[in-house]
Amino acid sequence: MSIFTKIITGEIPSYKVAEDDNFIAFLDINPNAKGHTLVVPKKEEDKIFDLSKEEYKNLMDFSFRIAKAIEKTVPCKRVGMSVIGLEVPHVHVHLIPLNEMADIQFTKKVKLTNDEFVSLAKSISNNFI
Ligand code: AMP
Repeated sequence: MSIFTKIITGEIPSYKVAEDDNFIAFLDINPNAKGHTLVVPKKEEDKIFDLSKEEYKNLMDFSFRIAKAIEKTVPCKRVGMSVIGLEVPHVHVHLIPLNEMADIQFTKKVKLTNDEFVSLAKSISNNFI
C-alpha cells in the first residue's frame, strides 16, 4: 500500500485541499514553493500512462480545477505542472506556483510551519470550485 493510499484511507494525515470520489489533492509535505500541491487518483496505480485514457483525462480535469484555486490563492507568475513518481510509486501530479526556474527543479525547498500548512490548505480549498 502506498503512502498516498494511507493518506486516502486516513491512516496518515495530510493537509487536504480537495477531494471527490476519484481524486484527492493535498499539500506536498516538502514543497518546492509555497502552494506546491499533489493531485492523486484514489485508485493506486504506479505510472501515469498506465491509467486508462478516461482516468487520465479526469485526473487532468481535477488538476486543472486545483491549479485555478492555487492561482487565486498564491501570488506567482504561473502554476507549473510536473509528473515524476520516482519516490512514491502512486500516480501524482505536482502543481507548483512558479516565480523562477528553480521552483520546478526539486532542489530548492521551502519550510512551512504546521499552522502555515493548515491555513494554506484551507485558503486553496476555499478557492476550489
Ligand atoms: P516523486 O515521487 O519523485 O514525484 O516525489 C514524491 C513527492 O511526494 C515529493 O515531493 C514528496 O515531498 C511528496 N511526499 C512524500 N510523502 C508525502 C506525504 N506524506 N505528504 C505529502 N507529500 C508527500
